[in-house]
Amino acid sequence: MLVKVSNKYRNTYRHRKRLNAFGMQFISGKWKINTNDKSVVNKIIRYCKRKKLHCECIEDKYVRNTSYRKDFVTHYKKHNGKYFRCAYCGKKITSQKMTVDHIIPIDEVQHDWKYRLLMKLSGMNNVNDICNLTPACERCNKRKGKKIGLRG
Ligand SMILES: [Zn+2]
Repeated sequence: MLVKVSNKYRNTYRHRKRLNAFGMQFISGKWKINTNDKSVVNKIIRYCKRKKLHCECIEDKYVRNTSYRKDFVTHYKKHNGKYFRCAYCGKKITSQKMTVDHIIPIDEVQHDWKYRLLMKLSGMNNVNDICNLTPACERCNKRKGKKIGLRG
């Protein structure tokens, strides 16, 4: 489970020691920890309630895993040979230069039930499902950002 802690518009500076002691790390504006230890999660939730901090708990199936790129390459290498093709512009890319894009964006899935429903309707139980991954060149992946699909 991924736990994220923030303090809306104020900073979390005075909470840093406690949050750090829970094993949390400050990454791009939020305190984060990926843990399956329920007691740690509960401690964080209790602390946040007491200090009126904003706490989000996100199930593993909605969190980017560490192996999705490798899984994707292994899965498609046998069909594809040397090259992949960018799903957005059609350019040929080598596996070294390829980025692997989440078609339904992780950020949206974590914050919007409509995207979680879309995932479910597409038959995916996990955001890192091979069906949610597509090769993209670096340029298209950057342009796509959080947008779904890609046009314009
Ligand atoms: Zn492209």
